[in-house]
This record gives sequence, C-alpha cells and structure tokens, in this order.
Amino acid sequence: MSNNALANAQLQVEQACKALELPNCVYEILKDTQRMIEITIPVHMDDGSLRTFKGYRAAHNTALGPAKGGIRIHPDTTGDDVKALAIWMTFKCAVTGTPYGGGKGGIVADPSKLSTRELEQLARGYVRGMHHYLGEKIDIPAPDVGSNSQIISWMVDEYCQIVGEQALGVFTGKPVELGGSLGRTEATGFGVSVIGRKIAQKKNMDLKDLTVAVQGFGNVGGFTVKHFESLGAKIVAVSDFDTEPFAIHHADGFSYDELIASGDDLRNYPGATEMPMDDFWSQKVDILIPAALANAIDVEIAQIMQASVILEGANGPVAPEADTVLEGKGITVVPDILANSGGVIVSYFEWVQNLGGYYWSEGDVANRQETAMSQAFDTIWETKENHQVSFRQAAYLNSIQKVADVMKLRGHY
Ligand code: NAD
Repeated sequence: MSNNALANAQLQVEQACKALELPNCVYEILKDTQRMIEITIPVHMDDGSLRTFKGYRAAHNTALGPAKGGIRIHPDTTGDDVKALAIWMTFKCAVTGTPYGGGKGGIVADPSKLSTRELEQLARGYVRGMHHYLGEKIDIPAPDVGSNSQIISWMVDEYCQIVGEQALGVFTGKPVELGGSLGRTEATGFGVSVIGRKIAQKKNMDLKDLTVAVQGFGNVGGFTVKHFESLGAKIVAVSDFDTEPFAIHHADGFSYDELIASGDDLRNYPGATEMPMDDFWSQKVDILIPAALANAIDVEIAQIMQASVILEGANGPVAPEADTVLEGKGITVVPDILANSGGVIVSYFEWVQNLGGYYWSEGDVANRQETAMSQAFDTIWETKENHQVSFRQAAYLNSIQKVADVMKLRGHY
C-alpha cells in the first residue's frame, strides 16, 4: 500500500481532533495502535525447503468493542500499512454505529505464488502465532486483499482446534456452510451502490442517466458494478490490472454478467474499446469509484479529474494532497470509512448470527445493511452541512467524537 499510509491516517485523526477541540491526550491515544503483534510463520514448502513469512495483527482502539478487521496477504504489506488500516477500521466501525474497535492483520506473501497446501500451512501458522490475541470478544479478523473465505475456513478450524470449542464468531467472511452470513460476499459492493444512490439523490442526479467508472474489478469493484447496473446506472468504464493497469470503455454501458463472462481478460468484452489510463481518470462521469488499492489517486491524477463525485470503494485510494486538490475543484469525495463500510456491517451481522446461533435470510441482511448505511450517510451529510467541512472531515468528526465520548466514559482520559 504505502506512500506512508500511517502518516496519512494519523494526519486525518489529528485534523479531526483539533477541529473537535479535544484534549491533546485523545490524539496521543488515537495516533497509534494499542496493540501490534509481529510474528514469524515457518512454512514447509512443497520443494522440501523451509520458508518464513512475516505476520502482523494490530488492534487500534477497542473503546467501542472488540477489534475487527481483515487480514491482507500481499508481498508489499508492511507493519505501518497494517496499523493505518487498523486506525481506519476504528472510525469505519464508529461511523456506522457498528460496535467494534479497529483491527487489521497482514501477512507478507504473494498468495498467487503458493500452492494450496503451502497457503493452508501459512493460514494455520498465522493463527498458531496469533491465537492469544484473537477471540469472539477480543479481536475478530476477516478476509481482505489476497485472502478469501477458504483461507478463513482454515483459520477458523485451526483456532477452534487450539481452543477446543466451536468459536465460529472469531472470524467473519466464512463460507455460508461454515457459519457465514448470506449477503456477505456482495456486501461491500452493494453498500457502495447504496451510498451512490444517496449521493445521487442529494445532487439531483437521475439514476437512469448516471454514468459511472470503476477502477478495480475484484470483489468490491465487481459487485459495485453489479449493483449500480441494477439501479439503472450506466457503467461506461472499468479498469483492472494485468501486468500493468488498463481500462476499457463502452459508451452504452457494461453488463456485469458479460464482464464476468469475459473470463480472465476484461478486454475480451464484445464492443469494448481500450482507453489509456489518463483518459480513464480524466473522463467526465458522474461517479468515479476507485476500488483497487490505496493511493491510486495522487495529485497529478487529481488535477486532471473531471468526475462530479469520487466514491471510495477501496481503503485510502485518494492521497491526502490529492484530496485537497479535489476539494479545490469542487469534486465531492465520499470517504472510504462510509462508502465501503458495508463489508464490516455484514461481518458484524455474521458475528451476531454466530453468537446467537440463529441465521437470517439474505433479504433481512440486505435491508438491515441498507438501513444502517443510509442512516450513517444522513448523519454525516448533516455534519458536513452544519460544519461546512468536506465529507471526509465530517465522517472523521462524527466518528472520532463517538470514540472520544466512550473513552471519556470509560475513564481513559
Ligand atoms: P480484490 O483483490 O478482490 O480486488 C482488487 C482488484 O483491483 C483486482 O481485480 C486487481 O486486479 C485490481 N487492481 C489492482 N491494482 C490495480 C490498478 N493499479 N488499477 C486497476 N485495477 C487494479 O480486493 P477487494 O476485496 O475488492 O478490495 C479492494 C479494496 O477495497 C482494498 O482497498 C480493500 O482494502 C478494500 N475493501 C475491501 C472490502 C471487502 O469486503 N472485500 C471491504 C472494505 C474495503
């Protein structure tokens, strides 16, 4: 991730603490994680050699509940990235009233270069090294970039074997057959579309004429396309990564099903034309959704952008300096901690279902998610209007105030 994501996250927290006139000690508590564990995971490789991998788990602040956040498996993951992501999780949970603190995990590895057996050993090794710091009421991981429900299944099995009980609620993002929630796989992309519909209403944009571009056609980007399409919007451009980023354009709009049918290479889409990445970023669309990795939009890209709204599907896709440029140009940036909060909201529903041992229908899950996200949107919008600040600042003002209030009640300051 990097470009110093931790410094970016700390700056966002500092600015909000100052604007809220909180005592300096609140920033001192919130600027770093309350716990950061680093482990070394040995894996016996298929060729008989032994390799070691670094693993991290950070819990940022648990005033509002147990720590919650995904485990990223990526060769470039650093401890500082994991800390930054944990900080963002604290405020993402607070913004939507999800009763969790912020957590995040990372493993420095390229999963595409490991066999299934090696990956299973890595997943189980991570849990053996971390289990003391995990638990249904302690810290609850989930999948993130590079991890998936199969990896989580191995992890939950390892954890249950170590503690000797069925503690399914210790991980979320499980397959439905193993205690996962209906609606979890699509939740983040669905949530991005819920927030997209809300912002379109506020800006008097007609959903039928809405033009949308999506960067990253993975879990978040893919289901974002699917749900925007079902709202009636036109997805005119999609970007993904092969050996380098590429983008395709279709003036009549892409169909999610046909994008999936294009197989490994979206460029096979019938009638699509390839567009240079500069044109992708500078196109005049109503909503542009970065749904790949952090810092995708730097100052140079921000300067050429002409979209009306940037809806952050990924975590931290707009670098702070770029944020200032976009604000100056009057482009509304809907922050990640609100826009992509659908994943953690439905993870919370999964955990509630696990603890209660009673499972909900897909419709129930989607309705509850939509209600939670719509309410959060309305609250943040009101804060934005009342304080005349950016959407991102409003989200941080609101969520940091909630965390600070509970820290005060608990006597943390
Ligand atoms: P993913 O690995 O499923 O998808 C990422 C996609 O982005 C891949 O298709 C990849 O090819 C593409 N990509 C990578 N670099 C790119 C580039 N430079 N240009 C264009 N495309 C590029 O990951 P995901 O789960 O969809 O997560 C995407 C982002 O959303 C991450 O920042 C993640 O932290 C965040 N997020 C995910 C969830 C979730 O529930 N999965 C929830 C909240 C936030």
